[in-house]
Amino acid sequence: MLTINCPDCGRREYTEFRYGGDASKPRPSHAGADQRAWSDYLFLFDNPKGPHREFWQHVFGCRQWLVLERDTATNVAGAAVPARAVASKSQTDTP
Ligand SMILES: [Zn+2]
Repeated sequence: MLTINCPDCGRREYTEFRYGGDASKPRPSHAGADQRAWSDYLFLFDNPKGPHREFWQHVFGCRQWLVLERDTATNVAGAAVPARAVASKSQTDTP
């Protein structure tokens, strides 16, 4: 069974979490409000086999959003870090 190591709560079964999508795609800028870019971001997904970065929320725990490294072929989870720590590094909007 897939287990996820939440930075706040420790290792828990995946049933405590909710999948939130692909974390490897860059989020479009709010500045231009390009509808095509937002449509692609929200509705087009790859189906990779192997290591993948995903958003997960610990809904039955601390409710924190995480970025999880998971191998989709073996369903083995790697490191999970708070999404806010990753988002602040990859923000595409300019101030
Ligand atoms: Zn947690």
